[in-house]
Amino acid sequence: MPDAGPAPRVIADALLVTQDSRRRVVRGDLRIEGGRLVHVGPHAPREGADVVDGRGFAAVPGFVNLHGHVAMGLLRGIADDRDLAGFLETLFAVDARRTEADVLAGARAGVAEMLLSGTTTFLDLYYFEDAVARAVDELGIRGYLGWAVLDPDKTTQKGVPLENARAFLGRWKGHDRVIPLVAPQGVYVCDRETWLGARELAASAGTLCHFHLSETRREVHEHEAKTGKRPVVWLDEIGFFGPRMVAAHTVWLTGDEIARLGRHRLGIAHCASSNLKLASGGVAPVVELRAAGAVVGLGTDSVASNNSLSLLREMHVAGLVQKNQRWDATVLSAQELLDLATLEGARALGAESEIGSLEVGKRADLSLVRLDHPTLLPARPESIVSHLAFSASDEAIDTVYVGGVPVVERRTLRTGDWSRIRTEAEAAADPLWSQRPAGGRS
Ligand SMILES: [Zn+2]
Repeated sequence: MPDAGPAPRVIADALLVTQDSRRRVVRGDLRIEGGRLVHVGPHAPREGADVVDGRGFAAVPGFVNLHGHVAMGLLRGIADDRDLAGFLETLFAVDARRTEADVLAGARAGVAEMLLSGTTTFLDLYYFEDAVARAVDELGIRGYLGWAVLDPDKTTQKGVPLENARAFLGRWKGHDRVIPLVAPQGVYVCDRETWLGARELAASAGTLCHFHLSETRREVHEHEAKTGKRPVVWLDEIGFFGPRMVAAHTVWLTGDEIARLGRHRLGIAHCASSNLKLASGGVAPVVELRAAGAVVGLGTDSVASNNSLSLLREMHVAGLVQKNQRWDATVLSAQELLDLATLEGARALGAESEIGSLEVGKRADLSLVRLDHPTLLPARPESIVSHLAFSASDEAIDTVYVGGVPVVERRTLRTGDWSRIRTEAEAAADPLWSQRPAGGRS
């Protein structure tokens, strides 16, 4: 059932960073009715509406975080200073002991952190996704939630992962803000049958597939040693790729693989911070992927490998690493970075007609960003996009709406009690940290 939303609301006289087809930044009003934008521009009708004074704020489309594991909020800092193999060794050991209750506590904390940093939609990959879905339902964010699928002999899930995913899709079908989907973990734990089963399940349910792909050289080389093919070529040849798919990372690609991903119009979650921190060694070929036809957005990955969920921070890092790596300061401009964090992320999810910009008819998912914050100075229409991409602090995000519902107001979470969420998350983190395996070099 579509959410009827709260009473009509007008946000008056704000600096509107519309992200419309002309990328207009204009002073004007937003009118929200039934959870959607019904007026964007000067002189919105005020009848029957709560009027919010927007002077002193930029209205910015909600950010789309295209890859993460939100319930890992309890594990921030648990496996620092290791490469992916060492990181996964610790994480898989901790994961094996997790309970649905601590996943819920972690998901609530992670969702709150995302809302407080202006993210209104996220794409997740984990198990116990019912707990994540509960957190999404309670706290008012939009969640695209992928049930992790692995070969039955490689999982810590009870039962067969693909069947668990099928049941999860059935339980959340039709929810307005919880979009269940299928998430094969990666080539290192999924064989041909698992990939094709995931594809078929997603297609039959009319939903997305989300997966890790070509994150490290080791992953690529081990797959090549096993199958004779690089992961992208192998997945293409077994007939896996299709519409509505989002791959995370894609750091290690050949020109041929880029062309294949472009041909399939694949969604790509670029996770610059996570790749840098885990020392993936390369830089995802974002420019070539976009030129080839792939749809690139930004993902934070989990706070165990980032260690933040801030899309403001992710824009900054993604821009810097591409510019430096390519000896070309013109690539990934501020405007392109904001596109990746909003519209392009929405497009990768197949949701560009619903979210990603401030345009009439779209969901009212947006943030009000304080123009008097030091990191926004000088707060001029022609500089606001640059500030969002390169300097704005999460602390400047004052108020956040999802579907017209104020989920954050004056930097306070409105849909949940942060002090309780935090206390429960700290308590749930205790046993995971006290029983963690000894760290070390991998
Ligand atoms: Zn990941």
